[in-house]
Amino acid sequence: MGTGKSYYSTNLRSPAASFKDALLKGLAPDGGLYMPGELPVFGQEDLLEFSTLSYSELASRIIAAITGDEIGIDELKNICNSIYTFGLPLEPVKARQYIMRLDQGPTASFKDFAALLMGRLMQYFLGKERREITILTATSGDTGSAVANAFHGLESINVIILYPANEVTGLQRKQMTTLGGNIRVIAIDGKFDDCQRLVKEAFMDPSLAGLNLSSANSINIGRLLPQSVYYFYAWSRISTGTESKCIFSVPSGNFGNLAGGIMAAKMGLPVRRFVIATNENNEVPLFLKNDEYHPISPSVNCISSAMNVGHPSNLARIIGLYGGRMDEKGIIHVMPDMKALRHDFFATSISDEMTRKTIRDFYSEHGKLLEPHGAVAWAGLEEAVAVHPEYNDELSFAIETAHPAKFREEIKSILNIEPELPESLREAESKSEEFLSLENNYDELRRIIFEIV
Ligand SMILES: *Cc1c(COP(=O)(O)O)cnc(C)c1O
Repeated sequence: MGTGKSYYSTNLRSPAASFKDALLKGLAPDGGLYMPGELPVFGQEDLLEFSTLSYSELASRIIAAITGDEIGIDELKNICNSIYTFGLPLEPVKARQYIMRLDQGPTASFKDFAALLMGRLMQYFLGKERREITILTATSGDTGSAVANAFHGLESINVIILYPANEVTGLQRKQMTTLGGNIRVIAIDGKFDDCQRLVKEAFMDPSLAGLNLSSANSINIGRLLPQSVYYFYAWSRISTGTESKCIFSVPSGNFGNLAGGIMAAKMGLPVRRFVIATNENNEVPLFLKNDEYHPISPSVNCISSAMNVGHPSNLARIIGLYGGRMDEKGIIHVMPDMKALRHDFFATSISDEMTRKTIRDFYSEHGKLLEPHGAVAWAGLEEAVAVHPEYNDELSFAIETAHPAKFREEIKSILNIEPELPESLREAESKSEEFLSLENNYDELRRIIFEIV
């Protein structure tokens, strides 16, 4: 199953690219996002076989089918075996509803699943060509720590991470700044939006062309494909047969997690419906309701901070998958099939008040901890079931995207208990930090980039 040069840009004005080129470039030359032109489709037999595979076996199987002959299956097996060494608990809550915990990786957010594989795939291709690249990424917290951890020590890759000086927690900062080596971290005196703007400016700066800049944000297709695997995994562990469809509730900000799920469904995973659960940044639920898209600027500050996104970059991909076209500014040139979107997605926005109430109720009813993002997903699932009582009997997964210990303060103020830090996070606490501080100014950033790379 070779997919060859089949990655197209959502703006439809770039030549088709191979997986390798799409991965190493990040952004297509026309400013659009790369998408696979064809995806493998897994049949009944494959699906049955999946239930016998470990996570790393399943990941190498699915990624090999997607990337065709660009990477050997043995190489993929080695890579997946060495990175997917942590668990993916599926906790029964009630009836056929489960919490799917994607928080057991080295930096305790679901972003580990994708960052780890993306780093190793990049290194594989770069090693063959004896090339170097520089990853430049803006983070509001979890992307930076997952990427820093995943790329630390990889040959041929320099990493520069920009974060808003006052908008990440001490723990998130330490997960990035205590690594050293090829990981450089810069605190910007500004907001997350400013960091993103600086990154964009660097990408467009011809004087930096020699650095082979690339992105590790979810605009990179390498961040999305690994995120289709855990949907197959969850279904394959619990389903009672290939007839059995399921529901996933996905807490969404930039919509990369959901895009992975949609690709899984395109590859044959039996999905009844996805619940799109956002915080008060409700531009997508409103779009599905009113057929009109309005980005929210500036984005609303909610306690599920990794989802404070007023214009999700992966929306262009989802609109593309439904026959529409949206450009990088958020302007829709061709409307997608809204009827099909409403059929496949139940979209809802969860307030901070509701998020806190969900954390409280979930703990008292089920004795289990959720953090704010997972609580948004659970509240979204409950709302979908309230509107469609028949979903009560469906196999459903609400995705928990971070470890509650990453939100100690918030959990403490709601429940008056302190979740215990996982081992991996405790390590960072005591190590010494190294980072640079910069004004929110592009010329300064450029000078520093030349100095450190
Ligand atoms: C990044 C993140 C999200 C949002 O995921 P998207 O793919 O951007 O929709 C949700 N929860 C946590 C904890 C995250 O770090």
